Amino acid sequence: MGVGMKKPDEILAEARGALEQAQDAQAVEDVRIRYLGKKGELTALLRSMGEIAPEERKAFGQAVNTAKDALETLLQERKEAFASAGRSAQLAAERIDVTEPSRTVPAGARHMITQTIDEIAGIFMSMGYSVTEGPEVETVFFNFDALNAAPDHPSRDMSDTFYISDDILLRTQTSPVQVRTLLAQAPPVKVISPGRCFRTDTPDATHSPMFHQVEGLLVDEGVTMGDLKGTLDAFAKRMFGADVKTKFRPHFFPFTEPSAEVDVSCFLCGGEDPSCRVCHGSGWIEILGCGMVHPNVLKVADIDTERYTGFAFGVGVERTAMLKHGIDDIRLFYENDVRFIGQFY
Ligand SMILES: [Zn+2]
Repeated sequence: MGVGMKKPDEILAEARGALEQAQDAQAVEDVRIRYLGKKGELTALLRSMGEIAPEERKAFGQAVNTAKDALETLLQERKEAFASAGRSAQLAAERIDVTEPSRTVPAGARHMITQTIDEIAGIFMSMGYSVTEGPEVETVFFNFDALNAAPDHPSRDMSDTFYISDDILLRTQTSPVQVRTLLAQAPPVKVISPGRCFRTDTPDATHSPMFHQVEGLLVDEGVTMGDLKGTLDAFAKRMFGADVKTKFRPHFFPFTEPSAEVDVSCFLCGGEDPSCRVCHGSGWIEILGCGMVHPNVLKVADIDTERYTGFAFGVGVERTAMLKHGIDDIRLFYENDVRFIGQFY
C-alpha cells in the first residue's frame, strides 16, 4: 500500500459525507462516479492490489470490497430517496381536490324579447301556423309597393324610413314577408314571421328606431273577418289570460281592407282601477293591428281574388312584453343591463 493512499474506510467515510450533502439525484450520481467509476477512488484501490504485500492482500481486498458494498448500498438508498421525493412533489403539484365546491358558472338565459317572440309563436304554431323569416334589408317594392302603399303614403317619407338607396331600405314592418310568402307558396298559406323592424323614431320610453314584430298571414278559400276575430281573440286569451275580452276598432292600413286595431280588456285591473299602470283607467289596451288582406296584395302574387281571401296581423313584441311584465321603458330591452335582463330568467 502506497504512502499517502487513503484506506478503504476513510474513503467510505468521505463518500458518506458527500452523499449526506447531496441535494439531488445528479449529486448522488457524481458521488458514485467519484468513488466507484472507472477512475474512482475505490476502483483505484482495487487496481492497486498488486502493489500490496501478499500477506496483507486478502485482508486489504476484503476491506475494499466491504467499503464498496457499503457505498453501493448507501448510493442506492439515496437514489431511491430522491426518486420518491420527486414523485411526491409531482403528485402534490397535480393534486385535485374532488371535494372542493366548483365555481358557480352563471347560466345564460333567453332575452325577454326572444322569450316573448317564442311565446307568441308558440300560440300560433299550436293553431297550425308555420314560422318563416324575411330579410331586414328590404326593397321598396316589398316594403311599400307590393303592400299597396301609395307613392304618397306618409310612411314612405325619408323622415320615417331608413333608406339605404332609392329602392333599398331597412324594413319598417314585417309585412313584406306576406308578399314574399305569397310569391313563394300557393294557397293555402298559414304563416307567422317574427323579426326586427326599423323606423326613424327618436328613442324615448315607448319608441325605438329598432323594434320587433310578429307578422301573421292566412290565405285560403272562404276566409272571413269572423275567422280573423276568432283567431286573434283566442290568441289574446292565451297571451293575456282566459278572462280577457277583445275589441276590434276600425283602422287603416294600406295592405288590409277592412283594417282594425285590436284592444284587450285590461288583464291587470279589468277596468276597475282609474290609476292602473297598464290601462290608465280606460279598461282597454291596444295590442295589435290586423285586417283582411287587400286584393291588390293578393294580385301581386297572381292569386285568384274571387277564390281566395285571407287575413293578416302584426303583433308588437316589445309592447306585448312591456304590458305583460310591467316594463315602463322600451329602452331597457336594448341596454343589456343584467340587473334588468336577470329579472326575467
Ligand atoms: Zn287596467
